[in-house]
Amino acid sequence: FLEIEQLRKSYGTGENKVEVLKGIQLGVEKGKICVLLGPSGSGKSTLLNIVGGIDTADSGSVTVAGEVMQGMNDRQLTEYRRKHLGYVFQAYNLIGNLTVRENIEVGAYLSSQPLDIDELLDVLGLTEHQNKIPSQLSGGQQQRTAIGRAIVKNPDILLCDEPTGALDYHTSKDILALIERVNQKYGNTIVIVTHNDAIKNMADQIVKLKDGQIQDVEMNAAKVPAEQLEW
Ligand code: ATP
Ligand code: MG
Repeated sequence: FLEIEQLRKSYGTGENKVEVLKGIQLGVEKGKICVLLGPSGSGKSTLLNIVGGIDTADSGSVTVAGEVMQGMNDRQLTEYRRKHLGYVFQAYNLIGNLTVRENIEVGAYLSSQPLDIDELLDVLGLTEHQNKIPSQLSGGQQQRTAIGRAIVKNPDILLCDEPTGALDYHTSKDILALIERVNQKYGNTIVIVTHNDAIKNMADQIVKLKDGQIQDVEMNAAKVPAEQLEW
């Protein structure tokens, strides 16, 4: 469903050239949760950004739902992102003067099949906060809003880069449980990038990245609900 073929990426030129992704080969099945682990600098964000269409590869290809990204022009890429992808960042990147509800509605903009906002606010646990602006929210509530904005268009794939990086233990588990609930309710394929080893236990598929290469791919038959994760 998500197919990554021989993906390569370098930054810099000449002597300063650094190869960050060295031929990544990976497939993720529809509706699965994939957790991508690896030390700092191993290329996790670079890989996610390329899949998300906000960075470009030097060679190789990314295919989502049968659509190959490489060779698309800017307009096609925008359309690809709009149709297929939701993105959750470590920093929430909410719009400060819009309410929770309006921030989520921004994500639905131009979508042909947005989720029902009231139902989604309920799933997110944000119904009672929907008219607040981000500065009136806790970090966890802001991240819930960011997940809402990414998921409201019901994307094929939800990409999460360190979604709990800025959150405390309990709030982190809360957010992971929410991502899990979204996966169960709406069936989106989910990729979570993290350096927290414990999070791999909630995954269907565990991918380990090291120095720009895939070190290991493992299917996890004994999935643990996010609420029961411990670290
Ligand atoms: P972290 O866990 O710290 O977020 P990461 O696995 O996400 O790390 P990346 O952000 O993908 O790592 O970076 C991989 C390597 O590529 C790093 O060595 C980084 O310095 C380099 N890099 C990333 N983006 C750029 C850029 N725009 N220009 C030059 N080098 C870059
Ligand atoms: Mg990163």
